[in-house]
Amino acid sequence: MKEKYDLIMAGTSFASTFFLKKYLEKAPSTAKVLVLERGKMLSHAQRLSFAREQKYGLNSFISSLSQQNPTFDNTRSSKPWIFDPNFGGSSNCWTGCTPRFMPNDFKLRSVYGIGKDWPLSYAQLEPFYCEAEELMQISGPSQTPYPMSRKYPLPAHALSTTDKIMQEHYGPLYISQPTARASRATGNRGTCCTTSICHLCPVNAKFTIENTFLHLYSDPRVNIQYESQVYALDLNNDKVNAVHYTAQNKERKAEGEVVALGTNAIFNSHILLNSGDSHPLTGKGLSEQVGIYAYVYLGHGMDNVGGSSTITANGFMWYDGPHRKERAACIIENHNDPFIRNERGRWRQMMKLKFVFEDLPQNDNLVSVSESDKLIPSAEYKTHSAYTQRGIDFLHANIEKLFSFLPVEKIDLDDFNQPTEAHILGTVRMGKTIKDGVVDHKLSHHQYRNLFVLGGSSFPAITPSNPTLTISALSLRAAELSF
Ligand SMILES: Cc1cc2nc3c(=O)[nH]c(=O)nc-3n(C[C@H](O)[C@H](O)[C@H](O)COP(=O)(O)OP(=O)(O)OC[C@H]3O[C@@H](n4cnc5c(N)ncnc54)[C@H](O)[C@@H]3O)c2cc1C
Repeated sequence: MKEKYDLIMAGTSFASTFFLKKYLEKAPSTAKVLVLERGKMLSHAQRLSFAREQKYGLNSFISSLSQQNPTFDNTRSSKPWIFDPNFGGSSNCWTGCTPRFMPNDFKLRSVYGIGKDWPLSYAQLEPFYCEAEELMQISGPSQTPYPMSRKYPLPAHALSTTDKIMQEHYGPLYISQPTARASRATGNRGTCCTTSICHLCPVNAKFTIENTFLHLYSDPRVNIQYESQVYALDLNNDKVNAVHYTAQNKERKAEGEVVALGTNAIFNSHILLNSGDSHPLTGKGLSEQVGIYAYVYLGHGMDNVGGSSTITANGFMWYDGPHRKERAACIIENHNDPFIRNERGRWRQMMKLKFVFEDLPQNDNLVSVSESDKLIPSAEYKTHSAYTQRGIDFLHANIEKLFSFLPVEKIDLDDFNQPTEAHILGTVRMGKTIKDGVVDHKLSHHQYRNLFVLGGSSFPAITPSNPTLTISALSLRAAELSF
C-alpha cells in the first residue's frame, strides 16, 4: 500500500521542529504528517547515565562526533564537521549561544559591496526572531546592538568582573550573551549551573528539542519513524512527489503534498544531489565561521571572576561597520569555563576570549555524492576566504587596542584557528532568483515549489553570530508563509 501524507519532514532538530511547530498550529485536524528521523530517541536521562559510565568529557565527545562519524565521508579534507544524528539533532549537544544577526548581515552586497545579500531583510525576520526567542526562553540583556521589538523573555546572565569594565567602556557593543542557557528555571528546564558542561547540560537548563517540543511528535496528526534515513526525492518538472528512505534495511517510499528537509547542510544538499537536482549551486559553499582564542593576562590584582554562564558576554566592537568592505566582521565571546593562569595567587587574573569571524561561501568547498554508496555524502573543504583571512590578520596586528584601558601585562593569541565552530552552513543557498540561489526567501526550492530546504544550508553569507536562532526563526517564517 502506498503511504500518502500532507507533509513529509526529514530530521527532528531546530530546522524541522520549528517548521513543524508552526505547521501544526495552522494545519487542519485531519492533516497527516510523516516525520523521518535517521537516528534514535536517546533521552537526556539516558545520555546522562551513559556519560557517567563513560566519563564523557567534551573532548572525547567531540572526537566521537567527528572522527568516528560513519554518516558521511570526510576523507578528502581534514576539517571536522560535528553534529548529533539522533532525535533532536545537535540541540542535544549545542552550547546555546543565541545572538541575533545584525541588520546589515542581510545586505552585505548592497551596503559593503561584498558577498551576497539575503533575499529577506532583518525587519522581515524580526517577528520570527521574537517568536523563536520566546519558544526557547532566551536569557538576554535589555540593550542590544540590534533592534528588538520585544524584550528577551528571561533576565540576562550576570557579567564577570572584567565584562563589567568592558561594558562600561563599550556600552551596548558589549553585552551579556543572549543564550538558551536559562538564567532561571523555566518549563522543564533548570537554572544554568555554570559548570560549562553544556554539551550535556547536567541540569537540563539549555533549550533542547526534547525538553521543550517532544509533545509535538505525539500530536495525533504526526507519525514519527526512527532509524529512517531519507536519501532521495522524486523530482518531476516543478514538484517533488515522493521521498525515498531506508528503514530496517529496506527501501521505502512515501508520497507527500509538501516535503521539508531539515537534515543539516551536509545531508540536505546530498539528498538533492542524489535526486538529480542540477542547480549549479546545490552542494556548493560548505562553510562556517573561523574562531581563534586569545588569553589576556591582567595586572594590578584584577581578577576575572563571577559571571553566571559558560560564555558571559558578546562583544560587537569589530562586528558591523565600513571595515566590512575590506575584511571580515568578528564577534567576540568572553569564556568562563574552568581555566586558570598558571601563576600562584594570580589564578584568575586572565581573560579567555574567542574571536569568531564571518566567511563568504567558496564554491570549491562542497558536498558531493559518493560513487560507492548512495547513503553516504562526501564532504570536501579546502579553506576559508581571503576576506576572512584579512579579518584574522587585522586581529593579530591590533588586538591590544581593544584592551587599552585595562591593566594588561600580555596577550597570547593562538597562532592556529580552531578546527571547527560546530556550524554547518551554505550548501543550498538562498537567492532572490533561481540564478542567485537554490531556495527563495521562504526556503522553498526555486524550481520544486512544494519542497522546503530548511536550516543553515540556506545561508548565502556566513555571519559571525551563531546560526541556530536564525535557523529557527527562518523555519517558523517558512511554515507561516506556506499556508
Ligand atoms: C558541540 C556543538 C555546539 C554548538 N553550539 C552552538 C551554539 O552555541 N549556538 C548556535 O547557534 N549553534 C550551535 N551549534 C550548532 C547547532 O547545533 C546547529 O546549527 C543546529 O543544530 C542545526 O540544526 P538543524 O536542524 O539544521 O540540523 P541538526 O541539528 O544537525 O539536525 C539534523 C537532524 O536531521 C536528522 N537527519 C540527518 N540526516 C537525515 C536523513 N538523511 N534522513 C532523516 N533524518 C536525517 C538528524 O538525525 C537530526 O535529527 C553547536 C553544534 C555543536 C555540535
